[in-house]
Amino acid sequence: MPAPETAAPWPTATDLARAVQAGELTPPELLTQALGRIEAARDLNAVVSLHEGAAEQAGRVEARLSAGETLPLAGVPILVKDNINVAGTRTTCGSRILSTYVSSYTATAAQNLLSAGAVIVGKANMDEFAMGSSTESSASGPTLNPWDRSRVPGGSSGGSAAAVAAGLTPVSLGSDTGGSVRQPAALCGVYGLKPTYGRVSRYGLVAYASSLDQIGPFARSAADLALMMNVLAGHDPHDATSLDVPAHFTRGGADTLRGLRVGVVRESLTGNTPGVEAALRDTLGALRGAGASVGEVGIPELKYAVATYYLIAMPEASSNLARYDGMVYGQREPGADVTGSMTLTREKGFGREVQRRIMIGTYALSSGYYDAYYSKAMKVRRLIADEFAQAFADYDVLVTPTSPFPAFRRGEKTHDPLAMYAADVDTVAINLAGLPALSVPAGFEEVQGARLPVGVQFIAPALHDERLVALAGGLEDIGAAQLEAPPVLSAPVP
Ligand code: GLN
Repeated sequence: MPAPETAAPWPTATDLARAVQAGELTPPELLTQALGRIEAARDLNAVVSLHEGAAEQAGRVEARLSAGETLPLAGVPILVKDNINVAGTRTTCGSRILSTYVSSYTATAAQNLLSAGAVIVGKANMDEFAMGSSTESSASGPTLNPWDRSRVPGGSSGGSAAAVAAGLTPVSLGSDTGGSVRQPAALCGVYGLKPTYGRVSRYGLVAYASSLDQIGPFARSAADLALMMNVLAGHDPHDATSLDVPAHFTRGGADTLRGLRVGVVRESLTGNTPGVEAALRDTLGALRGAGASVGEVGIPELKYAVATYYLIAMPEASSNLARYDGMVYGQREPGADVTGSMTLTREKGFGREVQRRIMIGTYALSSGYYDAYYSKAMKVRRLIADEFAQAFADYDVLVTPTSPFPAFRRGEKTHDPLAMYAADVDTVAINLAGLPALSVPAGFEEVQGARLPVGVQFIAPALHDERLVALAGGLEDIGAAQLEAPPVLSAPVP
């Protein structure tokens, strides 16, 4: 294995946009570079389709720049998760049922990137309909982890995370319903931010569980997180849950950490691998050294988080996915009559995990079970949110591992849905409470000869997303954020 680099491995989006704005690089040049990297790392299967209109977009950005515009993402190549609509591109959601679906409009989040001068180069691989934690359930096949190709990149936004880790694009978009930005960020060694529910528009994001879904960025620097969030966050009249809150994201310095009250969540301290424990301990040590105070806080209801999450996510999914019957979107299987066609379309179009969730979700919503399952889960959701709110009376941010373990092997959990769901133990409660949380690359764990990244999750009170991005800059300045390049292009394919 080649020695890992220690400096920022590739130019950041901030660097690239600055160089393009200054005329040192052109958007078409950047696009060509990104396409070359995507091609060279094709075996990762991080990218499911290229955007045919990308060259035209790059040309448009060039024209805007020569007309004197200042563009925060000038010419920056970006990949977006394949459940975010971009007009004229295929949006498959990792599903056979949408394999032929072409978007007729562009999601607000993607449009905001384009308006800021970004070039969308393609769509990133994902678990089918964002249901999963490993990117193995995609109809396009699994994405490989660039740190060890026999392992998963996490999920469901595994393609977006692996792409940024491998330097295909400096930043990307994912969606996070129960950890799908943060967990793959941790397993791939990059930043992943899940914004406060409502800060980034969901318009054009294909719905999984609408009360939990949120689009968020992957990045390799705190400055890039700030750059992305200033472009992404904002009110959108097309999304009724969108919040009208101004975005003021900046990367903070080490002084951000002085006097910061950090609460470690007690319930997250057990069941972690030694490398995860070490990364958390080192991060807390570095924070103390920088003048933060570190205490421990209990959130007892967290023990119900995974069960509560799945009893809310699956019912919402069963309702959201009712629209895929072959009549309006994507593939249609012929049948003897309309019902026959719809049944066959859904039977052939949806994978096993999606079918399982539709069935469990429908069951939990059915009369006689609604009170015992869905309604009960909604009550526990409130209790979890209340406990977080109480914890924030004493702490500015809370900390947990992002995942109890680093990247696991492909196939290790595919036959055990409960083991796969348990991978979300640290992330799902945040979505239930609607809070913002950031996974910071915080160290490495040696596992069977592989050097695997480990993430630490910082949680802020609702609407304090800015605090997390400021903190990330502070962690970089004190050397606590560990961004390295994986041995991606030199490693043999297993
Ligand atoms: N792994 C979780 C699930 O399968 C979270 C997925 C997500 O955040 N989209 O539901």
